[in-house]
Amino acid sequence: MPLDIVYSVCPHDCPSACALAVERIDGNRIGRVRGAEGQSYTQGVVCAKVARYAERQHHPERLKVPLRRVGDKGRGRDGFVPIDWDAALDEIAERFTRAAQRHGAETVWPYYYAGTMGRVQRDGINRLRHAMGYSRELTTICNFLTDNGWLAGVGAKRGVDAREIAKSDLIVVWGGNPVSTQVNVMTHVATARKERGAKLVVVDPYRTGTAEIADLHLAPLPGTDGALACAVMHVLFKEGYADRAYLRRYADDPAGLEAHLATRDPAWAARITGLGEAEIIEFARLYGSTRRSYIRVGYGFSRSRNGAVQMFAATCLPAVTGAWAHEGGGAHYSNHGMLPLDLTMIEGLDALDPATRILDQSRIGPILMGDRRDLGDGPPVTALLVQNTNPMVVAPESGLVRQGFRRDDLFTCVHEQFLTETAAMADIVLPATSFLEHDDIYTAGGHHFLQIGRAVLPPYAECRSNHAVICGLAKRLGARHPGFAMTAFELIEHTLAASGLPGPGAFEEGVWLDCWPGFETGHFLDGFGHADRKFHFRADWAALGPEHRELPAFPDHVAVIDDGDPERPFRLVAAPSRSFLNTSFNNLPSGIAREGRPTALVHPKALAGLGLADGDRIRIGNDKGSVVVHARAFDGMQPRVVIVEGLWPNHAFEEGIGINLLTSADPGLPGGGAVFHDTSVWLKRA
Ligand code: SF4
Repeated sequence: MPLDIVYSVCPHDCPSACALAVERIDGNRIGRVRGAEGQSYTQGVVCAKVARYAERQHHPERLKVPLRRVGDKGRGRDGFVPIDWDAALDEIAERFTRAAQRHGAETVWPYYYAGTMGRVQRDGINRLRHAMGYSRELTTICNFLTDNGWLAGVGAKRGVDAREIAKSDLIVVWGGNPVSTQVNVMTHVATARKERGAKLVVVDPYRTGTAEIADLHLAPLPGTDGALACAVMHVLFKEGYADRAYLRRYADDPAGLEAHLATRDPAWAARITGLGEAEIIEFARLYGSTRRSYIRVGYGFSRSRNGAVQMFAATCLPAVTGAWAHEGGGAHYSNHGMLPLDLTMIEGLDALDPATRILDQSRIGPILMGDRRDLGDGPPVTALLVQNTNPMVVAPESGLVRQGFRRDDLFTCVHEQFLTETAAMADIVLPATSFLEHDDIYTAGGHHFLQIGRAVLPPYAECRSNHAVICGLAKRLGARHPGFAMTAFELIEHTLAASGLPGPGAFEEGVWLDCWPGFETGHFLDGFGHADRKFHFRADWAALGPEHRELPAFPDHVAVIDDGDPERPFRLVAAPSRSFLNTSFNNLPSGIAREGRPTALVHPKALAGLGLADGDRIRIGNDKGSVVVHARAFDGMQPRVVIVEGLWPNHAFEEGIGINLLTSADPGLPGGGAVFHDTSVWLKRA
């Protein structure tokens, strides 16, 4: 019998947003998942996690029915009993109403993130929020620092078509590990290497899978990439690699930048980064002598108090050499700002009251614990509706997050596919559809396609989509907005029409629409995103966030990082593993088998200095607490750097709480942003 192949879109929090070709069996189950061959970014390739998606889709622990908690918070499945949907939604609505009557509407905090990247199912929670006047959310946990850093120079959240990587002579992967986290980038890198002999340079504090196959790997200390970028530009100016004609036409103040960089030479950067002068100069000369040079900027090096400036510094390189003007040249970070999608109907933006308070999602721990820096004179958060995220594991300062969720006076509803650690803390748990069971529309960070994923399977058991839950609650709460009366697909059609885009019929295979704006615009030859159409070497940080006073106008090293002291001499990077994606996939047997157990990569010299050996149990700690992991000797970074890949569930750690116990909820500069890789720690034998 011929296979039934249906097309879809990967919804996970990954820049690739792969177009998928899914084997459907008997209309109810899926087999193998492949990349769609006809979509020219995906090119038939998906990561191993999603190739085996049947393992997740048909996991025996998927939630089937709504649950009400009867045991202690966090106890697990036997702390809950099944209830029917009407009873569950009635109870949530009643508890939200009571909380709002007592404290005001801002006491309710709809809390979400990117467990699905679909605009209808992910962002529809905002329609309920705005219609009800509930607290707003500052979505800082992933791309806030990167956005601000990119926008400071480029002025628009888009970059050069990632398919052009195949036409590059030099690819610089800066602050990312696409071999593990965005495999499609490597497809295009492999083409460039095979067909053009292109070089691959990786800038990352440790020897990742991508760094292992690079021609050159620079491993600066975490939080020092800005210094590296400045020294590279110093060499570019000094040794004649700057494209002065390009700079005159396209940049705001090249003379000011050159003067500023005069003292930022490789010796200066070597002292800050821990790199050798020679490798900085080697990289600068390679970059300067290659016009078709493409920087694929990742997120890793932005997860630092100075992360926005680091990102900004890296984006300045192609402006100095004029690489932006060449095919296969320039840089790319994200295209989520490429299409001016009108999200008014999905998000209820016409109901938004800008006076409503806004809470920083990365600070959920301090917020739930009543920190007045966040709450001001406003009410405490006494009711939460959580969709698409697992803050008990992914948010920084897990100790505070856990205390907050345990509060007796906090009512929590979690809508999820599995009984995550956050769902286990809920009063009501609702079972959620997977992306194969609902309709949605997806923009992408990593490419230029707008994509539609339609339901190709019926909902599992009693699962309902995010959209259905939001509409069900809206009805009970008396929230008014036309979006609540529309189906998910009607919202998609409405959004396309309101945005001046073609309807779903124009999407190839019903899934993808190529929105690349063409060479001229794509390479900013008709101007960058600022009002003066120039690339800005002088960043206007004041326009990007309130905490701008410590940030210099020109790219620089900004020494606001948690650089440690004699008590905490090591620098911890909590990097993503290959098999997990935040906490999605960390409950699948194949991924757990590959990753093993929570492990710290520690330099052999550091181990020896502490009298430790490969395989020892070690305790990693700072002023927030400590966790026990096993050490693995690894020489692919500077001896001060410690890497713990994840995210493992809290219960995988011996003491039941994971690596984010140690990370800080301090906001990065200038407007916030989580600083997961900016943590100083001590190590000792456990
Ligand atoms: S590479 Fe990313 S977008 Fe593609 S299938 Fe894997 S998780 Fe999904």
